[in-house]
Amino acid sequence: MNLKDFKIKDHLITIFRRIVQIIAFILINYVILELIFSVNLIGFESLFKILPVLNSPRNPLSNGAGILEYIFFSITVGVIPIFLIGVLILVVLFTNRFFCGWICPIGTIQDALAAIPTNKKVLKISTHKSLLKIKYVTIIFLIILLIPLGITYSTNISFYIDYKNNLGDFGDKPLSYFSLSEYVFVFFPNMIKEIFQTSSLGPIFSNLLVFFISIFFLILIVLSVWYPRAYCRYFCPFGACASVIGEYSFLKLSRSPVRCVGRTECGICEKVCPKQIRILDEPFEFFTGKGECNYCLKCKEACPYKAIDIKIG
Ligand code: SF4
Ligand code: SF4
Repeated sequence: MNLKDFKIKDHLITIFRRIVQIIAFILINYVILELIFSVNLIGFESLFKILPVLNSPRNPLSNGAGILEYIFFSITVGVIPIFLIGVLILVVLFTNRFFCGWICPIGTIQDALAAIPTNKKVLKISTHKSLLKIKYVTIIFLIILLIPLGITYSTNISFYIDYKNNLGDFGDKPLSYFSLSEYVFVFFPNMIKEIFQTSSLGPIFSNLLVFFISIFFLILIVLSVWYPRAYCRYFCPFGACASVIGEYSFLKLSRSPVRCVGRTECGICEKVCPKQIRILDEPFEFFTGKGECNYCLKCKEACPYKAIDIKIG
């Protein structure tokens, strides 16, 4: 867009969202504040830890861990964290995926990359729909793999120890192997550091799995320049859970059948949607894109006919 054509009033939602995202990014990764201002904010740790943030406790940029990480960890020690599961369900029911669109630091990084002016690509619908399933398969795979840990923790401790040892790090922090932040902020930088320290490529070969997954996640991040929110769409485990609950959220969007002129005449909302949601195939009364909508409100902001609205209830 030509800078001369940029009108602040047309972009108020995005500007406000960017401010919220930056503040949230700094607060969640409050180690940044500690570094800049030489203060100790450890007292806030418990507050940050209950936020549904998909950052691993090992992430040096975040002392907080995600609610999903805690839920999965609890399952591995035989505890069904009803309170945390209840919090997760209630938060998504009342706020939909507002967290994904406005708070999540990984979402913020992807949005920053997507802001690089390039021609955004759209996947074939069938490919997009197939890829969407990856995150659900991941979650189901994790649950199947981890439930025996939880059951044997209190019933057959020797089986538990054997099984956990076989799972290695994965048994301790199950989500970390699926967490983009873990690789990009922890594993990969550590590997690079070791390569420099040892002046050899040994660290790569000593953990090829980590190396390849790190490269995969890095590619995924770079891809978000052309395919906005690629990680959120297809791989994020929190996104998978939030999508399932978000479909039933009280917070939705609606599209006026009177104002909307349709795809042939306009279709701008679909073009700006970072999640490639077929907004115009959704019902008028309310939609959540089958729980994929991250409530960024870009469609609402971009609609020239003011046809899209926030819907509560
Ligand atoms: S941008 Fe607005 S008018 Fe255009 S297709 Fe979307 S909802 Fe309809
Ligand atoms: S449907 Fe609208 S609010 Fe939802 S992700 Fe797409 S652009 Fe954002």
